[in-house]
Amino acid sequence: MFAQLQPVATDPILGLMAAYKEDPNPNKVDLGVGVYKDEQGHTAVLKCVKQAEALRLKQEDSKTYIGMAGDLSFNGHIEKLAFGVGHQVLLANRVTTAHTPGGTGALRVAAEFIKKANPNATIWVTSPTWANHISLFKAAGLNVKEYRYYDYDTKGLNEDGMFADLATVPAGDVVLVHACCHNPSGMDLTFAQWQRFTAVAKERGFTPLVDMAYQGFGSGLDEDAKGLRHLADHVDEMILCSSCSKNFGLYRERIGAVSIVAVDSKVADVARVNLLSVVRSIYSMPPAHGAIIVANILDSKELTALWHEELAEMRNRINSYRQLIIDKLAAQGVQQDFSFITRQHGMFSFLGINKEQIGRLRNDFSIYMVDSSRVSIAGLNHSNIDYFAKSVATVLK
Ligand code: PMP
Repeated sequence: MFAQLQPVATDPILGLMAAYKEDPNPNKVDLGVGVYKDEQGHTAVLKCVKQAEALRLKQEDSKTYIGMAGDLSFNGHIEKLAFGVGHQVLLANRVTTAHTPGGTGALRVAAEFIKKANPNATIWVTSPTWANHISLFKAAGLNVKEYRYYDYDTKGLNEDGMFADLATVPAGDVVLVHACCHNPSGMDLTFAQWQRFTAVAKERGFTPLVDMAYQGFGSGLDEDAKGLRHLADHVDEMILCSSCSKNFGLYRERIGAVSIVAVDSKVADVARVNLLSVVRSIYSMPPAHGAIIVANILDSKELTALWHEELAEMRNRINSYRQLIIDKLAAQGVQQDFSFITRQHGMFSFLGINKEQIGRLRNDFSIYMVDSSRVSIAGLNHSNIDYFAKSVATVLK
């Protein structure tokens, strides 16, 4: 039976990572993978995580099953982090949360949950979006459609196209929106655009699904959640998928959460049993380690303060490189306008260069980025920024 299997195209980013690894050029630069790196090009374990792990080692007294919803203390913390302490949906017990294996696990559980609620639902995603959104939702058996989002010509949001498309979405469908730090474009909604999105969601009656994989990487923990909090203030129901991979640097621990916001606490209770039955049929219960680390950090004033500091350091480093790219390219005599880079947020930006130029950067200079020209800004540091700017200037000539 296995001999009948056909090869499957692998994720282009994974292929890029493999090619980078094998490249012997000592000047090689990896701008492909969406993982934070420091000035030394290293993805270090956060200090607050190290301390929380030490605490866990001391306190852990059992390895018994954790339960389908995962760690309840983590779930409470993550709800407050996302919606804000004292948000009306929390006070009214309209939210139910399960911790999941990563943000990807949250999205998969959400997809199965949506299918239970409406087997005919179509999920609408931004064009473009994180490539795994589309394959994940299709694999779960949902119909997937795209709505216009990024405008490659203006290098900004295609607001007219976006709202024209959303005006056609029927009630019963789901619309995925990125909370902040849009992957892959870095182009986020302004607060006014969140207000407009909220109004359309109410008018059309579709259910928003907010994917928040980068809270704290854009403008700050509260600022990055401002749009989704406004949405939660006004819609009857929504889904939130969050991830602690980037903001806690816990990538391989696989820790995220899915939160269902229902119209009232009664519906939330029924949503909860449905959510847990989805979890039970996929992986039964999530791994505990990452959730307990996050809960230990957020339980402690000192560790929370340390986390805020470390998160701000990551965010500020990325933002400073957004400006540095523009300055260094200008210093190399590049005439094109790259000012859009500072209007974008988070880990990524589209450079807006063509496939041939991307290929030359890879083949002639060992600078690796995705074919869409998406660059992961954190791959740049003081040792490679000049080489990067010089190489880009060369292929733009
Ligand atoms: N959503 C988006 C938009 C992402 O970029 C990512 C991570 N690349 C995820 C979800 C999933 O993150 P995790 O690693 O926690 O599964």
